[in-house]
Amino acid sequence: MIGIIAAMNVEMDSLRSHMENTETEVVSGIRFVRGTLEGKEVVTAVCGIGKVFAALCAQTMILRYQPESIINTGVAGTLCDELSIGSIAVSSSVVQHDMDTSPLGDPVGLISGINKVELPANSALAQNLSACANTMGIKTASGVIASGDQFVASAERKAFITETFHAIACEMEGAAIGQVCYVNHVPFCILRAISDSADGSSHMDYPTFVKMAAEQSVNLLRRYLRTC
Ligand code: SAH
Repeated sequence: MIGIIAAMNVEMDSLRSHMENTETEVVSGIRFVRGTLEGKEVVTAVCGIGKVFAALCAQTMILRYQPESIINTGVAGTLCDELSIGSIAVSSSVVQHDMDTSPLGDPVGLISGINKVELPANSALAQNLSACANTMGIKTASGVIASGDQFVASAERKAFITETFHAIACEMEGAAIGQVCYVNHVPFCILRAISDSADGSSHMDYPTFVKMAAEQSVNLLRRYLRTC
């Protein structure tokens, strides 16, 4: 069974509309819908906004359904020239850009205990999702995806994240899902379509493009499931 997590309903509704043989269960306040999608067994969840909800959801999903892998679908702000609105970012790894114990001499972003800044996504999953995007003619880039509990909407914060982590996209859940998967040895990948430019115009772009971008990510995920 493949686990699929989105942060918001707008990122999940159309995907769920294609599911068959569904069964629903609420655990820890999250509605898990399992069933088949494009012939594959899946379990889906809308986790809510931010790293805490994302971690809660991923851990609950793993304990309750034992998914063989988890894919996070949704939208993100772009941090690189290659990705414009509607393009797709695929994670090679994830970082938490708001994790900072650097006053104690640690590198910015270090996850103490695990003692890593970047947590690797599953490379086969990432490669297959990118290949799928290519066959669909969707512009895509693979690289570091940065998560934090903030909507990135300034040139300064964007520059900090880009320069510190060399990230290609920013969002608010992927690295929390990644950390939970890393600890539980569950392969994961973050798939995000670009909804905004994570700078001074993102508060205008995001409401305009969130639905279109969310749809782009869902379409790619459905195509991937048909062929994997
Ligand atoms: N109150 C709003 C909050 C949306 S936050 C709501 O409930 O709908 C924006 C969402 O889109 C997050 O889930 C995040 O992962 C993603 N996102 C898109 N652009 C982003 C950006 N520029 N910075 C951070 N997250 C972004």
